[in-house]
Amino acid sequence: MSERIMVLEGDGIGPEVVGCAIRALEALNDAYGLGLEFVKYDVGARSISQGEWTVEGVIEEARKFRAILKGPMGDPGIRNRQGTEGGLDLILALRFSLDLYANVRPVRLLPGVSSPLRNFSRPDSIDYTLIRENSEGLYASHFGGMELRDEVAVDNQIITRKGVERVSRMAFEIARRGRGSPWDGRKRVLCVEKSNVLRSFAFFRRVFDEVSADYGDVEAGHMYADAMAQYMVLHPDRLNVVVTENMFGDILSDLGAATVGGLGVAYSANLNERMGMFEPVHGSAPDIAGKGIANPVAMLLSASMMLDFLSKRDAAVALESAVIRAMSSGALTQDLGGHLGSEGFTDKVIENMG
Ligand code: ATP
Ligand code: MG
Repeated sequence: MSERIMVLEGDGIGPEVVGCAIRALEALNDAYGLGLEFVKYDVGARSISQGEWTVEGVIEEARKFRAILKGPMGDPGIRNRQGTEGGLDLILALRFSLDLYANVRPVRLLPGVSSPLRNFSRPDSIDYTLIRENSEGLYASHFGGMELRDEVAVDNQIITRKGVERVSRMAFEIARRGRGSPWDGRKRVLCVEKSNVLRSFAFFRRVFDEVSADYGDVEAGHMYADAMAQYMVLHPDRLNVVVTENMFGDILSDLGAATVGGLGVAYSANLNERMGMFEPVHGSAPDIAGKGIANPVAMLLSASMMLDFLSKRDAAVALESAVIRAMSSGALTQDLGGHLGSEGFTDKVIENMG
């Protein structure tokens, strides 16, 4: 049975890195008989500002798919209705309207990339997954904050049983299927909160604990968010799966990305049980757009996560391994100190698929 994939090309380097991912996926399509069909949309800040697409139109279209492969979006030269940078409204609309409540970010040290953490130089010495609850917390702006007479401002942190249950369950499922920590191979989920200070987090922790009872094969633990920030720098090798609330997740996922070499290689999935959107963490990088030098690694590994989500496990592993093998053999783009362009690097990945 064939599966149609929505491909959003995005802005800046988007079409270039998306093109690389599609080329790699087509190679796997043939080799593994995946039956994937890629439906491309020239959608991004530019196409929306020029009236080719509306945000609502894209969302309506997206509902027809189970998987979306999304290039980076954004254009500093374009403002949208809210005055924010062009593209941001669409990104937020995709996450909220499609209820993609879990932002899943692998934090993995890849070959050829150096970590700013001195003790971690071996590939995969850092290898864990950070899951950010993406639909509530302080960022659930639809519940409203307020500013009182120019003197006081308030935002409300909303934590719901449904919200914590579903993201905790996702975390345990990911731990169950995943690799375990590089430190001791153990599978464990750490719930990160500040239950010592805030009642909403005490509730988060309680609901997490209830869910953990269904997963006897996976260890469950807790850590306060401030302690976690230290732990991610001092002992990242001991981590396996981390689940946290929206704002802590926002901050900690940037910290995590920095520990494994930053932008060009950080990838992510936005998931619910029904569908997923897979995208690199980096932006549209307008400064290098059109030059053919963008690093496609984050986009390629996002595509690998998509294959996994679609239960094309063998192909997912083949793509991930091919990227790792290519990088181990010294194939790197300029941002990582290599000399290959986007297409040249992708050639190496495809050569390594055998
Ligand atoms: P956003 O606007 O989405 O928050 P940003 O403005 O913080 O993103 P990016 O657009 O990701 O950042 O780009 C920051 C810089 O990092 C770029 O100018 C570019 O030089 C570099 N960069 C980002 N992604 C890549 C990539 N895939 N390959 C090479 N360099 C990249
Ligand atoms: Mg930007």
